[in-house]
Amino acid sequence: MKFGDSKKALKKIIKLMPNCVMLDANSLKKASVDNLRIAFPPDAVIRVKEAKQVGHVLRCAHSFNIPITARGAGSSATGAAVPVSGGWILDLSLLKTISLNSYSNIVSVGVGVTTEILQKKMLKKGLFYPPDPSSKKYSTIGGNIACNAGGMRCVKYGVTRDYVLGLEGYLADGSFVQWGLPLKKNVSGLNLKDLWIGSEGTLGIVTKAHLKCIPQPEERWMAMYAFKDEKEALKMVGRLLKSGLNPSICEFLDKQSVQCAEDLSGKSIFKECPGSSILIFELDGSLDQLIQQKSLLKYQIEKIAIASVEAKSLKDAESILRIRRRCSQAMYSIADTKLNEDVVVPIEKQYDLILFTKELKNQIGLATPTFGHAGDGNLHVHIMYNRASKSEQKRAKAGILKLMRFVVSIGGSITGEHGIGLAKTPFLKIQHSKVEIEAMYALKSALDPKGILNPGKIFKPFEVWNYPKIKNKLPWDY
Ligand SMILES: Cc1cc2nc3c(=O)[nH]c(=O)nc-3n(C[C@H](O)[C@H](O)[C@H](O)COP(=O)(O)OP(=O)(O)OC[C@H]3O[C@@H](n4cnc5c(N)ncnc54)[C@H](O)[C@@H]3O)c2cc1C
Repeated sequence: MKFGDSKKALKKIIKLMPNCVMLDANSLKKASVDNLRIAFPPDAVIRVKEAKQVGHVLRCAHSFNIPITARGAGSSATGAAVPVSGGWILDLSLLKTISLNSYSNIVSVGVGVTTEILQKKMLKKGLFYPPDPSSKKYSTIGGNIACNAGGMRCVKYGVTRDYVLGLEGYLADGSFVQWGLPLKKNVSGLNLKDLWIGSEGTLGIVTKAHLKCIPQPEERWMAMYAFKDEKEALKMVGRLLKSGLNPSICEFLDKQSVQCAEDLSGKSIFKECPGSSILIFELDGSLDQLIQQKSLLKYQIEKIAIASVEAKSLKDAESILRIRRRCSQAMYSIADTKLNEDVVVPIEKQYDLILFTKELKNQIGLATPTFGHAGDGNLHVHIMYNRASKSEQKRAKAGILKLMRFVVSIGGSITGEHGIGLAKTPFLKIQHSKVEIEAMYALKSALDPKGILNPGKIFKPFEVWNYPKIKNKLPWDY
């Protein structure tokens, strides 16, 4: 794809919205990376202050053929937010309006609001906005929608899509559109709202979202259990879900992940059984529901678990969750680079996946610590390698390909929450047939005929291995 003269087009934008265009080295550098940590500098960063300016920018970009990469917080794990084809970063982080309809509990939100701020504001009203990516302190509602973000509480409450009733935004040519409304029911026309959700900024730019909130659960309870091995832990998840347990969190840590967390902190998570596999459960609901769910859980789990700890306070619960969050950073004690995959497999095949990661570890000689959302079958498999070692890089590359093929062969998906971006483009054709990819591309071409919206993402295979990783710290790094 040949793109147009960005400088000429930019002059028009500077004239129209002079205080929104940033060309200084620092702004360009910041906007050139996301959590994939590969840098592509944009020609300019345009940080809009109001939604209608998105229309101005897109009209100009469309007529001059300039690539547009929408950006919230840039926490994408896959390179979805980096301007791989140059052009402009359209920074939406200042669109921060929040307006709650207290009759319907529908909140209308500017896409720059962070997930955590929205949750905190709703909590003050006794309401709950459940989608909770671990990046929630930084990630924006726009980024969550564009990636259909998930998180720990999806097992009970579902993903971002389940809370989006309507979207406002702009097509590639700058036309304003509304897909859905702040209404609980609406089946008018084709459902382009759901097409935009998870489309990684390739089909349109969202400026406002109408989101469903639910009442805050009255009670919450959390506990952590250790198991002899991963087989016992994952068999337990299957048994509990089958018996009607409806946890709000059900997280799994394999032995390799636990070992990393223990090495980082210098102490065992469970003194009596260091390095064991772990499950974390949160239950929530009314007091009666909690009593019933707790006894269902305890009756089965206490027969098998080799150690346990219950949270007695919110602080305890936060400490338990911190162990799970820490694992991610703790892995850097093994090697300086990680491939962080977010594959999904059928719940009953999670142990098959763990067995596969253990075999893979032996085959490629690289650590494969795995943890994640066992209640959804969405496990984060990591492959740890040292970037400077050509041999390790080669083995990591072979390992990820084997992983993706295995996951698809057992009926799984190559991504459950991070999306395709750049990093997973080589695997799209493992997951989808040629006909399916062509149908997706036909939709993309219909909505963005000039291909200016986030070009290079999802469809075109990209080799991350050919690019150096940046070394500077990102806001969410410890
Ligand atoms: C430490 C850490 C933990 C994470 N944990 C999770 C997790 O638990 N669950 C999970 O799902 N993800 C997780 N992620 C990934 C990431 O945080 C999510 O994908 C998040 O939704 C991205 O939000 P953002 O505002 O940073 O979006 P960005 O990274 O800025 O953008 C992501 C994509 O959305 C597009 N986009 C952004 N805003 C808009 C808009 N308004 N209109 C159209 N397109 C837009 C961008 O072009 C890009 O394609 C994690 C990332 C990190 C760094």
